[in-house]
Amino acid sequence: MAAPAWFRPAHHLLVSFLVVTMLPAAALFWLSWRSLEQDRLLEAQRIRERCEQATDLLVTALQQKLAALELRLADYAPAANDDALVLVFQSDRVESRPKNRLLYYPAVPVPREAPPAVFARGEELEFRRQDYAGALTVYRELARSADPGIRAGAHLRLARTFRKAGQCQAALVEYQELAKCGPVPLDGVPADLVARRARYALLQELKRPAEVRGEADALARDLAAGRWLLDRVTYLHFAGEIGFQAPAEAAALAGVVEWLWTRRRETPSGRESVTVEGRPMIALWRGEHALAAGPRYVEQSWLAPLAPLLKNQGVRMSFDGASSPSQAERAASATGLPWTVRVWSADPGADSRQFAARRRFLLAAAGILSVLVCAGSYLIARGVNRELAVARLQSDFVAAVSHEFRTPLTLLRQTTEAFVEGRAGDEAERQSFYQAQARATERLHRLVESLLDFGRMEAGAKPYRLRPTDAAQLVRGVVEEFQREMAGSGVNVELAVETPPPVEADADALTHAIWNLLDNAAKYSPDCRTIWVSVGGQGGEVGIAVRDHGVGIPSHEQKEIFRKFVRGASSESNGIQGAGIGLAMVAHIVEAHRGRVSLESAPGAGSTFTILLPARG
Ligand code: ADP
Repeated sequence: MAAPAWFRPAHHLLVSFLVVTMLPAAALFWLSWRSLEQDRLLEAQRIRERCEQATDLLVTALQQKLAALELRLADYAPAANDDALVLVFQSDRVESRPKNRLLYYPAVPVPREAPPAVFARGEELEFRRQDYAGALTVYRELARSADPGIRAGAHLRLARTFRKAGQCQAALVEYQELAKCGPVPLDGVPADLVARRARYALLQELKRPAEVRGEADALARDLAAGRWLLDRVTYLHFAGEIGFQAPAEAAALAGVVEWLWTRRRETPSGRESVTVEGRPMIALWRGEHALAAGPRYVEQSWLAPLAPLLKNQGVRMSFDGASSPSQAERAASATGLPWTVRVWSADPGADSRQFAARRRFLLAAAGILSVLVCAGSYLIARGVNRELAVARLQSDFVAAVSHEFRTPLTLLRQTTEAFVEGRAGDEAERQSFYQAQARATERLHRLVESLLDFGRMEAGAKPYRLRPTDAAQLVRGVVEEFQREMAGSGVNVELAVETPPPVEADADALTHAIWNLLDNAAKYSPDCRTIWVSVGGQGGEVGIAVRDHGVGIPSHEQKEIFRKFVRGASSESNGIQGAGIGLAMVAHIVEAHRGRVSLESAPGAGSTFTILLPARG
C-alpha cells in the first residue's frame, strides 16, 4: 500500500528524525535495561554472599553449642516437658534423664522371679484334679508369703482359679490385690500391669462398659507416662490390647532411643539426625552418654538463641531438610553437625519487588519517550508538509502572476508594434487600439497595485483609514466602474440597494475587496454573464452580497480558498487565470473592518459571497 500523500514529501525528514531520536532512545533503553539486569545479578550475588557469611556464623555457633553440650552430657538433664532425653547406656539396659519418660526401652534387665516349683502343689489341685477349693486354700497360704514374687504369683493364680470356679467378683478382688504388688515381675511383665490388663479383660467379659473405659484410660495414662520398664514388644502388646495410640512425640523419642541402642555399637560417638514417626530427631552420643532430641527441643534450645543472629543477617535457616529456597548450604558431613544447614534471605521478595518497580519505571519512561517521539514525528511531518505546500503554492503563484502580466503586455506590444509599423489604419481603428491600450494599462495598474497591497498586507504594513461611509453609495460606484471596465465582455451587474446604515470603512480597501468579488464572479461564471449585487442592513450589520450563477465551489474548498495562493480545482479545470490572492485580500480587508465574509455555494449552482460589516454606532 502506498504511503498516504501527507506523509510522502516529508518522509526522508521523518526517517532522519526517527533515526536521530529513536536510535539513541532505543540504545539508551537497552543500556538501562542491561544495567538493571546487571544490578539485579549483583544484588543476587550480594544476597548469596550474605547468606554464605551468615551460614558460616550459624554453623560455628551451633558447633560450639553442641560441643559444649556433649561435654556436659554426664550431668545434664533436659526439662521434663522437653521432647528430649539424656540417656545413659549400660550393657543390659538404658537409663533416661528425666526418668520414666520412655514408652519402651531397647533393653530391659531380666528380673529374678519366684521359682515355679513353689506353686506346683496348688497347680496340681487346680489343673489335674480340678479341686478349686483345695487349690484356693494352697494359693491363699502362699499369698501370705514374705517374698513379693511368690505373693504376686499366688494372687494371679487365686484370681485365675476364682474365674474358673465362676466367682468373677472374687477374681476381680484378687486382681486388685495383685495390682498392689507393684512392678514385681511375673513372666517378665510387671505384676500390676498384668493385674490391670486382666481386670480390664474380665470387666469386658462381664460387660461393664463404664468400668472397662475407666480401666483402659488409667492404663493408657500410665503407659504414656512410662510407668513401667517395658521392652518394645511388651509395650506394643499391651497398648494394642487397650487400643492405645501414643502421641507422635513420645513414640519418636522411644524410636530414636532404640535406633541409638544399635547405632552407638557401630560408632562410639556421633551426631546424626534420623526421621522417626515422621519427625526429624537428633541424636548426639559420646561413650555411654547420649542426647535424643525432637524438633521442639532443637528449636527452643538451639535455634531460638540464634534468632538475633539470623535477624541481624537478614536470613532464615532450616535444619530439618525441609525444601526451602536455599541460597547457602553446609552439608552435615562438612560441618559435623547432625543436619545440613540451609540458609536463605529473610525477605527474598524485597529485592525482586524493588527491581520490578525499577523495571516498571523504565518501561513507563520508554513508553513516554516513544509517545513523544511519535508525536514529534507527526508534528514535524505536518509542519514540513505545510511548508512544502506553501512553497508549491508560491511557485504556482509566480507562474500565475507572470501569466496575468503576459496578457495585457502582449496586447500593449501588439498595438505599439502596429503604430510603429504604421499598420494602424484609419482613425476608428486607431481609437480602438488606444482603448485597448488604456484597458491593458489599467489592468496592469490594478495588478501591480494588487500585488503591492498584498505585499503590504502580508508584511502587516497596510494602513487602513476607517471613516464613516455610505456602503450603498460606495458599492454603486464600484459596480459602475466595474461595468465600465467590463464593457464589451457581456457582463451585466444587477444592483439592488436598500438604504443601509453607514459603516466605518476605508473606501479604497473596501472598493478593492468588492472589486475582487465582482472580478471572481465574472471569471467563474463562463456561461451566465449576470452578476447580482445587493446592499442592505441586517441585525446591526451591513451586508454586501455578490452573487453569480457560475461554476460554484465544493464545500471542502470553501474554507481553504480564503488562504493565500490557494486556488480551487475548478479554476484549473476551466483554465481560468488567477494568482490565488484575491479572496485572501478580501478576508484581510474585511477583518481589518472588524467584519466577516460568508459564503454560500454549491458546484454548478453558483456562489454568493457576502461581506458583513458592523453598522456604525
Ligand atoms: P484566483 O481567482 O486568482 O484563483 P481567488 O483568491 O480570488 O484567486 O480565489 C480563490 C479560488 O476561489 C479560485 O481559484 C476559485 O476556485 C474560487 N472562487 C473564487 N470566487 C469564486 C466564484 N465566484 N465562483 C467560483 N469559484 C470561485
